[in-house]
Amino acid sequence: MSKLFSVARLKCPRCHKGDLFVKQNPYSFKDAMKMPDRCPVCGQDFQIEPGFYIGALWTSFPIVIFIMALLSILLLVFIKMDLNWFFVTLTLILFLLQPLIIRLGRAIWINIFVDYEEDAIEE
Ligand SMILES: [Zn+2]
Repeated sequence: MSKLFSVARLKCPRCHKGDLFVKQNPYSFKDAMKMPDRCPVCGQDFQIEPGFYIGALWTSFPIVIFIMALLSILLLVFIKMDLNWFFVTLTLILFLLQPLIIRLGRAIWINIFVDYEEDAIEE
């Protein structure tokens, strides 16, 4: 449950207070993916090792698949959209959601390695 909280709010997996990303808005073109080196609240290292977030591809990929499946059902089954329009719409929506998906993927990824600690405040 607590990991779900951290992922959904994009908070530090250790203290659940510090923000994982510098900018709150995923669509601020500059620095959208920028993360602090350490949690501003508890000091948890956010860049656990060089290239740590390359592994986050493994967590964002299932999100993409899930959204694609959901959209396919919605657009093809319920709206009965023309196949050409379906692909255009699918591509567009996935493109627009990309910053959110990457953020979620990274949040899930770091939560796999870092656990919540009740009083994790930097000494
Ligand atoms: Zn923290």
